[in-house]
Order: sequence, then structure tokens, then C-alpha cells
Amino acid sequence: MKKLLLLLLFGLSPLLLAQDFDDVEIQTLKVRDNIYMLVGQGGNITMQTGNDGILIIDTQYAELSGKILTAIRELSDGPIRHIINTHHHGDHVGGNANLKAAGFTPVGGNVGGDLGDAGEGARILAHENVLLNMAQDPDVDPEMWPTLTYFTEKKDFWFNDEGVRVLHQPNAHTNGDSIVFFRKSDVITTGDAYITSYYPFIDMSAGGTINGFIDAANAIIDLIIPVYGQDGGTLVIPGHGRLSDIGDVINWREMLTIVRDRIKDMKDRGMTLEEVLAARPTSDYDPRWAGERIFSTENFVTSVYMTLED
Ligand SMILES: [Zn+2]
Repeated sequence: MKKLLLLLLFGLSPLLLAQDFDDVEIQTLKVRDNIYMLVGQGGNITMQTGNDGILIIDTQYAELSGKILTAIRELSDGPIRHIINTHHHGDHVGGNANLKAAGFTPVGGNVGGDLGDAGEGARILAHENVLLNMAQDPDVDPEMWPTLTYFTEKKDFWFNDEGVRVLHQPNAHTNGDSIVFFRKSDVITTGDAYITSYYPFIDMSAGGTINGFIDAANAIIDLIIPVYGQDGGTLVIPGHGRLSDIGDVINWREMLTIVRDRIKDMKDRGMTLEEVLAARPTSDYDPRWAGERIFSTENFVTSVYMTLED
């Protein structure tokens, strides 16, 4: 069990640099007719296919690009045209340069004139803070950078016979989070604004906050239409973990909200961070959600405390 937890953790940590990718297999899950979830190591990849080509959300690690391309080619031989990054962390953008190079941006065509100029390689779309965060990191190859950014609340375009809506979620996991809504397929890809594995990692160094996480959970739930009394309806691909529906995201929002309220109450009463940690405000949630390191109880409680506005 301990070993399994460690394995899961290593698969999640954006901070772990040296990894062995040889044994990683890319698993493909069909989510809807033309939407797939690719699971390897790092953030889940979403793939949408159709007559216009291929759209990919997030790219895991560069070392896995060969395996990821093989998995993509088992589903479609169309051109890779769009890559969307949900945020800037290395386990979500590591394969950007490789997958960009494997695709191309057509001249004009059917993908929307406002989405950038034709050029070599697939287009990489992200919120502008993703580019700013990546450009500040000298270890990030500029070939990995987004080639098209947006700074408004949302970015819409039409691809493979459906509207694709990219929605900025300010200051949740980071300051540059996007969730992506496939309107016809009825699938939402959340990046790390929603995960099923552990407590959220609030990346305070990049503007993440607990209230931003709760706002993002509400935005996701707002887009979901469930099937009355049953599983199903809109499906949600999380940044890490398993395919979800409304019940899963509601449980997540409840956990975030209750923990936030408990810690806010303690902070309002003047308790220090040390006192709040000692009071164990998440003890009933720890068996389900606590991980290690950045996903630990201590890290979660600390980041909630620190990012609550006074
Ligand atoms: Zn992340």
C-alpha cells in the first residue's frame, strides 16, 4: 500500500525532476465519440479528433512524447493542429516542443482567423500567465512556450464540428489556469484546478489561492448538466486521477469549502498557523485526500491559511 502511494505520488509531483520513464505505458480511455483521455505519467492528456485534425490538451513529459505520439496515431492519422496548456507546470507542458513539432498550423482554413498565423508546428494556446511563468524560468526551452495566448475571461473557437470554450480560472491552482469545455461532446477538461487523487496543490508562488480553487470548482459545476438520478451527463477529465461526473466535483467542492471555512474561522479568531495545524482542521478528510509532500495535509492547511484574505 505504501509503495502504491509512493508510486502515485511520483506520478503526480511536478517537482520531481529525475524520473524513470522506461516503464511508463500510455493508457487510452475513450470518453466520448471523438474525445479520449491519455494517462501516462504527469497530467492527464485530453485528445479530440475529427475532420479538422487533432487537438491535445497538455503534453506530460518530453521523455514520453514518443509513446504519446504512438498512442495518438493509434486513434487518428490526422494533423496535430492545436495544443492547449491548462497551466505551466512541467508535468503538463514537458512535451510541448515535441508535440508541436509533430503537428502544423494550416494557412487560413477552418480553425479561426484570430487564432494566430500559419506556421510550422502545432499552435500552443494558453492563458498569457502561462507564457509569463514559463518565460521567467531559464530552464524552460522557448520552443515549449505557448504560441498564442489570451488574457480575457475566455477564448472560443470552432474545431472538429464543435465549439471549444477555453475559460480562465484566476488564481486557483496557479494564476494561469484554463478549463476547456467541449460543447457538443459535453466534456470538460480541468487541468489541476480539479484532481481526484489528493488535496489540491495551491501553487502560492504562481498566484494560487484557496478561494480561486473554490471559484473554479463552482465554474466547473456550473457547466455540468447531470442525468437526473443517475451517473453520467457531462463528463470531467481531471488534471490527475480518474474520469469524473458531477458527484465527484461536488464532493471536491464540499471538501474545499468546509476546510476553508474551518480554517477561516480559526484565523479570524486570531489563531496562528501553528495553532491551526495543531488543531487538525482536516482530520476527517485526511484518510481520503492526504498525500505526501506538496499534497500533504500540512501543505494544504498551510496554503489555505496563507492565501485566505483577511
Ligand atoms: Zn500543476
